[in-house]
Amino acid sequence: MNNSKLFPLSFFFIFGMSNLFGSINVLLDKNTFYQGDTIKIIIKDIDKNTKVFCSFNKKKYPAFVCKRNKKRILVGVSSDVKPGEYLLIVKVKKIFFSKEWKSIINIKGNKFPTEKINFSNEKKVLIEKASRIKDDSIVIDSLKTITEKQYWEGKFILPAKGKITTSYGTRRKNKENASVGIHRGIDISSSYGDSVVAPNNGLILLTGEFILYGKMIIIDHGNGVCTLYLHLDSIDVKEGEYVKKGIKIGRMGSTGLSTGPHLHWGLYVFGDSVAPLVWTQTEF
Ligand SMILES: [Zn+2]
Repeated sequence: MNNSKLFPLSFFFIFGMSNLFGSINVLLDKNTFYQGDTIKIIIKDIDKNTKVFCSFNKKKYPAFVCKRNKKRILVGVSSDVKPGEYLLIVKVKKIFFSKEWKSIINIKGNKFPTEKINFSNEKKVLIEKASRIKDDSIVIDSLKTITEKQYWEGKFILPAKGKITTSYGTRRKNKENASVGIHRGIDISSSYGDSVVAPNNGLILLTGEFILYGKMIIIDHGNGVCTLYLHLDSIDVKEGEYVKKGIKIGRMGSTGLSTGPHLHWGLYVFGDSVAPLVWTQTEF
């Protein structure tokens, strides 16, 4: 992050002794974001025993130590967060004393593409069954995992080579023009058996086979960041295994609800899906 671009959040309220917090600074690199973005908030010159509370859009976010005397808060802005102005509050607390910073965050809408999707009757039966038995509930819950340790280092790399055939946030509609969901990741299409690699360091959190997702892997990168891999032909890692950036985790396939060989790659911050390509371009 370029420090010269940082600006402090406006200091709002102080209760008690100001010198208790020394020179703590709460910094954002910008205050306008788009649907799918990840907001990074850095708290400088804070000791690890000073508690940090953050709230944004009715949700609370934890802060984790990212460097000595530095804590970081990440907020995922999903593709379906309504555009508008939102209040971001960061509060630090030590014993009975607290200090609060506030900033207005402007979320802008993205022009997501629309895609027509028509499922055969056979596939509709599978979708109905998966929904009835809540087949993917363990996947949804696992994506909300928060691990105190940060495993990822630097920018993420693409987990597969190929063409991006469906982008993040694509609105899917059936032939009656009714919404059949939002595409919460990117599809990378290539050939059966192509390598799928870990885009960054992490722990293999969950592997399994599901009705719609097919063969699936979740990697926990730490600090509330998880990535998801769907429709694999094979899973080449085990739960609990530590993987380094670039290590092969499986092979591209078309298992589950899929019409051809591709990898569905999703990136989640505290359970909220964000645009994965942003993490390949920006260092969080
Ligand atoms: Zn997909």
